[in-house]
Parts: sequence; structure tokens; C-alpha cells
Amino acid sequence: MKETLLVLDLDETLLYATKDKLIQQEDFVVGQYYVYVRPNLAYFLSEMAGDFKLAIWSSADDIYVHELVDKIKPAAVDFEFIWGRSRTTKKRMSVTDEYYYVKRLSKVKRKGFLLERTLIIDDTAEKSMLNYGNAIQIAEFTGNANDDELLLLASYLKKFKNVDNVRRIDKRYWKNQDMSR
Ligand SMILES: [Mg+2]
Repeated sequence: MKETLLVLDLDETLLYATKDKLIQQEDFVVGQYYVYVRPNLAYFLSEMAGDFKLAIWSSADDIYVHELVDKIKPAAVDFEFIWGRSRTTKKRMSVTDEYYYVKRLSKVKRKGFLLERTLIIDDTAEKSMLNYGNAIQIAEFTGNANDDELLLLASYLKKFKNVDNVRRIDKRYWKNQDMSR
């Protein structure tokens, strides 16, 4: 049985969307954006769907999020939920006065998921700073065709498959760990 939920960020985590066309051919276009899918994305989603429940949570506009997910979702993969900015919490940075959006896992809990069994994966540490024990930060993707982050992540995540409390495992230096252990 699949017990653990993976909450996946979208922009710079699973894909890169930009108004400025890159040298290589884009995978598709949504609105004004050229979209580059992170290498091995379909493999990653299909593999993970075998071991985990999956969900998408982005701080981008809700409609944009759904359009993108429609394009990248393998037919056999289902998401528990697909959330955009309306589910995030707006915060103001005291130093620069800029706004940013955070993902509060209490909202996931309210939907009935156990936080001991929830991992949130994001390229931006601030987005999940409130979810310290649940967060795995990965390198941002901005179109590098040789990126292999999703392969590394797929390999690392296997260890969480049957863990009762994912928060007990330190995830800060995950890429430096020996994957075979
Ligand atoms: Mg991101």
C-alpha cells in the first residue's frame, strides 16, 4: 500500500517556463511561456507513482498550474491534488518589503494526510521553511539538458517508502549520501 505522500513543486523543480526562448527546442508552449521539461520527468513521475501518493503544489497562478500539469502528467499517473497560489500563504519579507508565498503543510494535514508521511520537494528553501522536517530541497532547473537531479532524487526517495515518520530522517545533505545504503 502506498502510504507516503510526495508533494512536488512545479517551476524550476519539474520544469522551467520562461518568456525568453532558450537555444534548445522547447517541449511545449503555454500562454507566453516556453516550457522546458526537466530531463527524466516522465520516468520520475511514473516510478514514484508506484511507491508513493503524488501531489503538485506550486505558488504560481492556479490556471497556469493546471495547464502545465495537464501537459506533463503521464496517463497512468494520478495526483491526489493539484494546488496553485490560492492554497499558499502570502508573507512579506521584512528587509526588502517583497512578498513571497509559502506552503503550509497544515493545509495538507487538513485534507487528511499524515505529516509523518508527507514529503515536500522544492527548489526554493523559503517555500517550505515552515515544513523543515518534511522538506527536501533540490537544485533548481533552468533548462540544462544534462540535468540528472530527478534520477538522483528517485534513487534517494526509495528509502522513504516504508518509513513511519519521514521527519526523523535528516534530509539536508541528501545528495552527498551513499545512495546504496
Ligand atoms: Mg520552484
